[in-house]
Amino acid sequence: MSGAPLSLPAGDARVAAIDAVLPQTQCGACDYPACRPYAQAVADGAAAINQCPPGGERVVALLASLTGRPLLPLRDPQRPPALAVIREADCIGCTLCIQACPVDAIVGASRQMHTVIAAECNGCERCLPPCPVDCIELRPLPEPDTAERQRLAAQWRRRFEAREARLAAEPARRQRRLLERRRAHAAAAGEAARPEAASTTADGRPVDRRQVLQAALARLRTRQRD
Ligand code: SF4
Ligand code: SF4
Ligand code: SF4
Repeated sequence: MSGAPLSLPAGDARVAAIDAVLPQTQCGACDYPACRPYAQAVADGAAAINQCPPGGERVVALLASLTGRPLLPLRDPQRPPALAVIREADCIGCTLCIQACPVDAIVGASRQMHTVIAAECNGCERCLPPCPVDCIELRPLPEPDTAERQRLAAQWRRRFEAREARLAAEPARRQRRLLERRRAHAAAAGEAARPEAASTTADGRPVDRRQVLQAALARLRTRQRD
């Protein structure tokens, strides 16, 4: 594609317009952590327009039109559409692939077999390097038409943003859970130490303080659940 530059707005909208033509696999092959930072770098003039292998020549041409910069050959070989598949018999359930997947397309639990949700996988290859037993392979997919490509890009952007938001909120959630646990322990310890708490049972045996504490904690947990 060539000709007059497409209209490119200013500021954040300029970055959004560039991001809108990127494939949204969030693969990092452009040397940026995700599509949006690459869009920002292109908008700033810090990155060349030919660094997106999943986008191929099509995206180079679109970026050339958007920015008014000259066409360039693709820097790295094009990455065709693909789907990751886990050879489940070989999977050791280490969860490293789940942690690497930018769109939460893998399900599984520690020491359990993992599997890829085919409808969510974008073939970004991020799960391949961390797998310690090399049990993930890529299977080629046909090129989508324009409408399907746009639908997939929107889906992958949405899932990536949801994951980023979840990860960003995780430290605060962990802190909250820790505080709740500490409060529950403190409350249970207080209940167990109340002066009216008997030091001997009805038949004169000494009270097991640990049992009292555990019972108080159990009561608190029940109350919190209710
Ligand atoms: S799809 Fe393209 S722009 Fe997005 S992260 Fe991958 S290489 Fe970068
Ligand atoms: S399963 Fe692998 S290839 Fe598919 S989106 Fe997740 S990290 Fe990328
Ligand atoms: S990284 Fe490989 S071995 Fe580990 S859970 Fe994923 S597929 Fe299984």
